Amino acid sequence: MAIKAETRKRLWGRSGNRCAKCRAELVRSDEGGLPGAMVGEEAHIIARSPGGARYEPLDPKARDGYDNLILLCANDHSEVDAQPSRHTVASLRTMKRRHELWVKSRLHGPTSDNGPTLVTVMRSGNDLWPLINRAFGWQFGMPEGLSEEEEDLIDSALQTITDWCDISTDVELQGLRSVREAKRSMTAEVDSLAGAGFLLLGGQRQAAWGGGEVTGPVVVLEVMRPEDLEPLRLPATEQGASAPEARDRS
Ligand SMILES: [Zn+2]
Repeated sequence: MAIKAETRKRLWGRSGNRCAKCRAELVRSDEGGLPGAMVGEEAHIIARSPGGARYEPLDPKARDGYDNLILLCANDHSEVDAQPSRHTVASLRTMKRRHELWVKSRLHGPTSDNGPTLVTVMRSGNDLWPLINRAFGWQFGMPEGLSEEEEDLIDSALQTITDWCDISTDVELQGLRSVREAKRSMTAEVDSLAGAGFLLLGGQRQAAWGGGEVTGPVVVLEVMRPEDLEPLRLPATEQGASAPEARDRS
């Protein structure tokens, strides 16, 4: 079995034509090639054949499927396959997901913004829906020093929420039942974060793209441990909540 054209297209698109490990710019081997770009390799997470890195029995379709592939530069492909105990199936999946999130937030990231954003604790999909509905982009924050499982959990929660953001206009057009489904799915992510001891904070701010021609709302999502909440408090709240506004008027 070979990798389907559609799978390849998805892999390259979601990777932003960059190596998931070092983020070097890559070109397809069947393309002419940009100066300074390296040839990308569609690497198998679980090896294609017995004896290969991370090999285990797998359905042939799944083996060449999107979930089992990661786009890497030649150097990192060799390294990843030479050190399968360091680069496990789980760690490669996390690497891929983090990279795709990075590409996504980079593509949608604003070129300028207007200072700090007020974030509040998100308790359910009901809190999240008005923030993500019709948002132009997003920014993420997460704590340092996470375990692999914690990273996995947070990546998948943020991925689900931004996936709903991507299609929010369509979901709204489909009607209330679809909106409810989106909210329920996001509530499940908030609950699984809470179950692992994390809080999700969310806010929105206006941002500009491309020198200010396009402006729109950006969603700010921050995953935190409750004990890290304290240092986040803005100095303004200590001096009175209206301080920044008062400064603007003067
Ligand atoms: Zn690389």
